[in-house]
Amino acid sequence: MLKNKKSKNGSSTIKTNQIKIFLGLISYFIILIGVFIILLWLFSDIWLVWLVILMGIIVFSIILLVNWHRQNFTYKCEFCEYEFRISFLLDLLSPHGPNRKGGWKYLKCPKCNKRSKVAVIKNSTNISRIDHNLTG
Ligand SMILES: [Zn+2]
Repeated sequence: MLKNKKSKNGSSTIKTNQIKIFLGLISYFIILIGVFIILLWLFSDIWLVWLVILMGIIVFSIILLVNWHRQNFTYKCEFCEYEFRISFLLDLLSPHGPNRKGGWKYLKCPKCNKRSKVAVIKNSTNISRIDHNLTG
């Protein structure tokens, strides 16, 4: 891990934003499930229709979210500091989690081919056109 004190402000902004996004998503899904329960209670004879609609909305939301995440965040290799983007499927399926710097994702660096928990960083304009189509 790199001990970089310079990016402290930027990292804390990302962390705050991630908490806001996370809380927003939680409330979104709570509202969605609340509406579903009300509909289920009012029109309980067609519960399967509501269930299918709910599943559809959740799947659609996840697809939108992953696509948004893919477009707005890049990843930085901790070995060579190379910044890269990943494909939709890889973004959806690769293991990830939070840390003190904001977040990590377990990926293979396209430059040095080392697997590591790469740092999740906010997309900057100068690398927004780079799009590596990695398969894992
Ligand atoms: Zn690397």
